[in-house]
Amino acid sequence: MKYVIALVFIVFLSCQTYATTILIYHKIGDSRTPTTNVSIKKFKQQMRYLHDNGYKVLALKKVVSMIKNHKELPKKSVVLTFDDGYRTVYKNAFPVIKKYGYPATVFLPTEAIEKRYPDYMTLNQIKTMMKYGIDFESHSYSHPRMAYKPKNWTNKRYKEWITGELTKSIEFFKKHFGYKPYAFAIPYGEYNKTVIDTAEKAGFKIILTQDPGSVSIYTPLYLIPREPILGKYWSTMKHFKEVLNEEYLPITKRMPDFGLIKKTPTVIGAKLMFAKNYKNCGVYVSELGWKKAKIGSNGLVLIKNTKNFKRKKDRIAITCVDKNTHKIAVNFWMIINSN
Ligand SMILES: [Zn+2]
Repeated sequence: MKYVIALVFIVFLSCQTYATTILIYHKIGDSRTPTTNVSIKKFKQQMRYLHDNGYKVLALKKVVSMIKNHKELPKKSVVLTFDDGYRTVYKNAFPVIKKYGYPATVFLPTEAIEKRYPDYMTLNQIKTMMKYGIDFESHSYSHPRMAYKPKNWTNKRYKEWITGELTKSIEFFKKHFGYKPYAFAIPYGEYNKTVIDTAEKAGFKIILTQDPGSVSIYTPLYLIPREPILGKYWSTMKHFKEVLNEEYLPITKRMPDFGLIKKTPTVIGAKLMFAKNYKNCGVYVSELGWKKAKIGSNGLVLIKNTKNFKRKKDRIAITCVDKNTHKIAVNFWMIINSN
């Protein structure tokens, strides 16, 4: 119900297009795990690029408050987030962001901190960063894959398990840092409606995914996309500049909606909030690829599908070109195949 109310409300607001890209980093300067790493050199280059090109690096909380109050976002802005609380972030990223005075948010899977896993930040390192204003929020307790309910589990047991993960993480924050985290970054960025609902019930005000894309004042706070910067291709300056240029595509209806699907959808797409502002749209599905789609009557952008989905999860996206800015606007969500 909450989703419906949020969508209906934003339909009545006027159109604007400025977007903020929320970047996710994992490890900085850890060559043992190249797929989740960004080299120190590249990280420095990216932070310098933001500075030299007039990007405002905003605190996550600030962007959230602007979205909540439907306040125009700055023309060029980003948010820095770091998932998992790796020690290399303390060692190699913290000195750089301190130099520029950038705010940042680190999402902690609290079990790794509690049990002092060697690759993760220590409590003292976290507290040192907090003194400089770095924000720490929840990334669950044990970093499990949350979107797949084991077949032999009841819904009740499944919800209790997610609640347990979140509660244990919240308790850790209260005990060691004296506050309740307001933001939850979903482990692996994998979600369904139960994951989202349970996180909201646990008291999280915003929920962050790893769906690509930027945010605008139309982005729902329970499904905040972030752009991963990592690995060989996604840490390049080319990709970095591309994601900074993306816009958020406001939609009022997803078809199918995010989360669990019982059977493969035959019609896939979305309803655009401001259809007149866009052209050259397409629909992307992980296992179908990208397909052109016309903007139909009522702003619907749809493709027909006859292929049976085989993957456990698929990402769906609508992409369009903004007629005014000529930038690409995207809106991604995730479906989980229950079969
Ligand atoms: Zn993670």
